[in-house]
Amino acid sequence: MADDVVDSMEKMKLTSEEEEIIAISDEGRLEALESCQLSLIGKLLMCKPFNKMAAKNTIQRAWGVDDTMQILEVGPNLFQFKFQFEFELNRIFKGGPRSFDNQLLMLQRRKKGMTVGNIIMETTSLWVQIWGAPFDMFSPRVAKEVGDRLGVAEEVEWKNKKDDINLFMRVRVALPISKPLRRGGFLAGSDGECSWLTFKYERLPMFCHYCGILGHDLKYCAAHYAVEKNGGNIVYQYEDFLRAVGARARVPVH
Ligand SMILES: [Zn+2]
Repeated sequence: MADDVVDSMEKMKLTSEEEEIIAISDEGRLEALESCQLSLIGKLLMCKPFNKMAAKNTIQRAWGVDDTMQILEVGPNLFQFKFQFEFELNRIFKGGPRSFDNQLLMLQRRKKGMTVGNIIMETTSLWVQIWGAPFDMFSPRVAKEVGDRLGVAEEVEWKNKKDDINLFMRVRVALPISKPLRRGGFLAGSDGECSWLTFKYERLPMFCHYCGILGHDLKYCAAHYAVEKNGGNIVYQYEDFLRAVGARARVPVH
């Protein structure tokens, strides 16, 4: 959409009146500014048609918010969530379910100058559990370093000292949605000793069991269609083992 605007702008010869900049006073935008202050922008990565009204209701219920949070449709599959309270916005941004009808909902904090045409949604934040690390590698710093290889680590779970269960490390990562989900990875310390890690994703919405990419399933997968059409032997590399069973909504201890 932004490219279209740039293209048509290039061809357009502006009149002197059109060239004038329409300056808006601070008072003029005060109301809009205030109402945008506590906003998240969300994009639903849907591969099928959906009922927008139902989407709004479901998201509201899943987030445990009432009508004080307003949901505005601002573009194709694009929504603005306006909150009354900052703590509620933070709660949702950091830990709220990122899906509707099993479809991925990408969220971003509203930034200055953001328009429907310049929003870039290339990542989604999910909590990733890291299983299989050697005992002497169990640390939030290691979790962060691993998270930064998957995408951008945004938050790490710090264990409470009184905790007596320590099965895996946990990191919230902004994952690039264009890449297949990583199923695991090799971890090595400076001694060169290598261990295989397994990654499990909490509240994982729909993903393709053939190519491992979020946002579509086998029915909507061009690569899968092509292999199936050619009668090739299909090996599904991405299965439900990627899902973490029983996501935890624990507040990290700092
Ligand atoms: Zn696919």
